[in-house]
Amino acid sequence: MSDCIFCRIVSREIPAEIVYESAGCVAFLDNQPLFPGHVLIVPRQHYATLSDLPDDMLAPLFAATRQIATAMETVLDAEGSFVANNNKISQTVPHLHVHVIPRRKGDGLKGFFWPRRGYSGDDHRSEVAAKLRAALQPGSKV
Ligand code: AMP
Ligand code: ZN
Repeated sequence: MSDCIFCRIVSREIPAEIVYESAGCVAFLDNQPLFPGHVLIVPRQHYATLSDLPDDMLAPLFAATRQIATAMETVLDAEGSFVANNNKISQTVPHLHVHVIPRRKGDGLKGFFWPRRGYSGDDHRSEVAAKLRAALQPGSKV
């Protein structure tokens, strides 16, 4: 028996309100929702973080995310959604999961009320951009 809560939800060893299943993914209601309808989408296989997810799971995971975010606007009367994924920091369950949260104007979830830490100057911004650009070039081994 796995000691991962989300593996145990996928295998039905512990109960959850499952709302979506595909060959690769399962989605269920978060049991401590930010708002009713807060869904978590997980790959059936155990991958700890987004960086561990294999290529062939990218489309299934994002397809499920899109479908669930869209459905919320129809059947839950949401005006929009917030899609989020914690990796390592603030990640309380080490099985990759995508949060899809229904949003309404004035719902109090200030998505961009997070503290902002800017650059120390133009050089700093250029340096950060250059590091990422180099790492993200086709063929980069980073
Ligand atoms: P995170 O903090 O991004 O790792 O999110 C983990 C989420 O899993 C939290 O929002 C929890 O409320 C949720 N959660 C933990 N255990 C369960 C469970 N047994 N069933 C449903 N949701 C869970
Ligand atoms: Zn797991």
